[in-house]
Amino acid sequence: MKTKGKNASHFQINKIHFEIASKTTIKKVLKFISSAESEPPYLLMDTAKIKRKVRAIGKKIKNSKVFYAVKANPDIEILKLVHSLGIGFEIASEGELSILAGIGAAKEHIISSNPVKSYRFLSLARDYGISHFTIDSKDEIDKLVEYVRQCNIYVRLSVPNEGSEWPLSKKFAVELDEAEELLIYARRKGLKPHGITFHVGSQCTNIYSWNTALDKAKTLWTRAGKRGIKLSILNIGGGYPIRYTKNVVDIGTIESHIDTLIYDRFPKNTRVFIEPGRAIVGDAGVFVSRVIGKAKRADEQWLYLDVGVFNGLMESLGGIKYSYIVESSKPPRKWTIAGPSCDSFDVIDKDVILPEPDVGTLILILSCGAYTVSYASEFNGFSIPQTILI
Ligand SMILES: *Cc1c(COP(=O)(O)O)cnc(C)c1O
Repeated sequence: MKTKGKNASHFQINKIHFEIASKTTIKKVLKFISSAESEPPYLLMDTAKIKRKVRAIGKKIKNSKVFYAVKANPDIEILKLVHSLGIGFEIASEGELSILAGIGAAKEHIISSNPVKSYRFLSLARDYGISHFTIDSKDEIDKLVEYVRQCNIYVRLSVPNEGSEWPLSKKFAVELDEAEELLIYARRKGLKPHGITFHVGSQCTNIYSWNTALDKAKTLWTRAGKRGIKLSILNIGGGYPIRYTKNVVDIGTIESHIDTLIYDRFPKNTRVFIEPGRAIVGDAGVFVSRVIGKAKRADEQWLYLDVGVFNGLMESLGGIKYSYIVESSKPPRKWTIAGPSCDSFDVIDKDVILPEPDVGTLILILSCGAYTVSYASEFNGFSIPQTILI
């Protein structure tokens, strides 16, 4: 088996693949495969691309600070890299805090924007000195008063998530009236109402989602001002998209658009927080996987891989469609692609046109750096792919 995949020239790579993953990333991946003894499945992360993304994000938004949403990919080497580039972190749990403590991230560089936090997390966050938290309920304010006391809070405002492939808004966030009341309540309880946050939904491919969100945030900002609450921070959350199959608007264009919207609506000294997750690591990652089986069932041709829904490709259940590079020069066919486990949910995609690969050959899955291994389990005994920085 190990000899398969050694000859990089067998991979069927076309222009679209280069557009999605960049030529340099694909070249690095092929070089790693041909020289390494690692057995698939594994996740290769292009460090140069992560660096480029970190440097690019936030650039076009004045007075902004970037906090990497750790849940997208909490691999310690990635966190060290991101930390070395000087940006901050957005976290939700004691597990995420403990990795950041391990790499020496300063308290000023950490914020927590999960609107519902555990007592244990709040105590540890307080001990660490974290002072920026999101709330969207009275109960959460009461918890902060009891466990953290002096801290800055933002209220999570509900905004439409229609333009996003991974919507989030139903679980969290409140409407304008309630958001205003929560800011007042927080002040009365001795917390510092500092700002507003929202999340347009992950993988947001419609730039006008930010218009609606910022209009609504502006309304709340003004209303709070009339009640004597002077806000200073606008936390625009995450949502920047990456390319999986279809082209997406580039981050520079999105940020110039957002910057104009903010400039037109908010005071000039407003500080802007950005919490990208997917956009920092997503398109820097390539899964190296192996075809472990093929079958014809009724009219469908099935392809079974050693990475599936449970050990890395969970987002396929929510509709994320990946791009693949196969090691084959045979004619293309239509495939149903499935993972290795015995569970019938473990189907990654349908109607995927790919040259027919032999069992045992490698298959590269592009744009897999975010929300893949961080979601993965060892269900059914299939290993979580190792993350390797290249
Ligand atoms: C998940 C999350 C993010 C990151 O979202 P992306 O779409 O990956 O950029 C940012 N902020 C909060 C509060 C989140 O829950």
